[in-house]
Amino acid sequence: MLDPARVFIALGSNLGDRDALLRRARALLAALPGTALCAASRLYETAPVGGPDQDDYLNQVVELRTSLAPWDLLAGAQEIENELDRRRLVRWGPRTIDVDILWYDDFEGSDPRLEVPHPRMEERRFVLEPLAELAPDLVLPSGRTVAEALAGVQDQDVRLFAAETAAAYPRGSENRVMDQAAVHAEIRRLAKAKDAVILAHNYQRPEVQDVADFVGDSLGLSRQAAASPARVIIFCGVHFMAETAAILAPNKTVIMPDVNAGCPMAEMVDAEGLKALKAAHPGAVVVSYVNTTAAVKALSDICCTSANAVKIVQSIPADKEIIFTPDRNLGAWAAKKAGRQLILWQGFCPTHELIDVVDIQLAREKHPNAKVVVHPECSSEVAEMADAVESTSGMIRFCCNDDAKEYLIGTELGMLHRLRMDCPGKQYYPVTELTICPNMKMTTLDKVLKALQNDGPVVTVDAGTRAKALLAVERMVEVGP
Ligand code: SF4
Repeated sequence: MLDPARVFIALGSNLGDRDALLRRARALLAALPGTALCAASRLYETAPVGGPDQDDYLNQVVELRTSLAPWDLLAGAQEIENELDRRRLVRWGPRTIDVDILWYDDFEGSDPRLEVPHPRMEERRFVLEPLAELAPDLVLPSGRTVAEALAGVQDQDVRLFAAETAAAYPRGSENRVMDQAAVHAEIRRLAKAKDAVILAHNYQRPEVQDVADFVGDSLGLSRQAAASPARVIIFCGVHFMAETAAILAPNKTVIMPDVNAGCPMAEMVDAEGLKALKAAHPGAVVVSYVNTTAAVKALSDICCTSANAVKIVQSIPADKEIIFTPDRNLGAWAAKKAGRQLILWQGFCPTHELIDVVDIQLAREKHPNAKVVVHPECSSEVAEMADAVESTSGMIRFCCNDDAKEYLIGTELGMLHRLRMDCPGKQYYPVTELTICPNMKMTTLDKVLKALQNDGPVVTVDAGTRAKALLAVERMVEVGP
């Protein structure tokens, strides 16, 4: 490893959700081994150079400190371009992302694949303008400083992207950016050193999603927990999810960055109450949403997630009664889709029940071309009004495969980040800004770092409960989405 070098990298995008793509590129740069993102310029727009008519570029320059050698950094930059779906079929075609190394302290490269300092940077205002925010006194190969070179290209059209973006990167914000980027880099370093895999639910904070190895819904994360070869699982979600991972992977250490992050819906059903309901309906099959405690899972015949609830209800013989816990809304939706009568526990998600039919009406008036996609934890009245009722993984599939350009999303707000990452190039609006699950937001980047540093807090499930709950959880995983 080398001592950390100062590097400036130009980012550009003119295809898809450019702002989101640049944000993702910054997070991926910060996640490179031995690398911290120290500063980011504001965003600038400019017309493409040398190509046929196409959309304007969004440009930015970022400053890194990295221990990667120049060629390793280039390989990392190219991996980021691949991950963000850059196509190299047409030389001057539009692209989701450009990641160009402009400058690497004390290094000069003349290989056509690694020309550093970048040979055309002094001619281009869209490079010099953001670079001047970070390093106006940097002396370029011509002997001029960045500020002097910038004065010579003022005739080129380069505009600040938008007022709100400018506000997001005020001068002097570098420390804030550096703090988060440095924490991100340290988390990735420790995860590797400790053989840990980081799993994050779709409702987690964007920066927590960005540092994770896998982001997904309960079912997807359960599968990752079971299949991952890692020794340690850092579970960024709520308590029942970490418990489910501990049930599926007893030989791994399951750690929750904030062990107090619970799920109010999961706490609405208790083992004693469920035992009483089972006694009143002997012979009934108990289907429990995965949002339940291990003790309730141990009393259940099969678990389900919102992605496979309908399939699981359909799989139960028609002559059997079915008890469904704890979510009355998911249960009512699954009953309708599967054409079955269910005995519903009267639990609910307080976050999804905040969405009202009036919110849908108002949101539709504001975005008349948007399709409404809601989660089945919403009330039946809200689900009735939607164009689609989907689990979080279903929302991604639906929006990626659908030809609309705008969507109103009725679920926890963290999902909008995931949609922007996975289905860029479309607009996503929340049905209401109120749908923030306080428990899901308890996990912060700092807590993820502390969890890795302290090897805890560890979540365990006692062996007796685990053995009973495992059957129900394994059946859920086997059925799949
Ligand atoms: S969004 Fe609802 S179901 Fe999910 S963790 Fe929060 S309270 Fe529980």
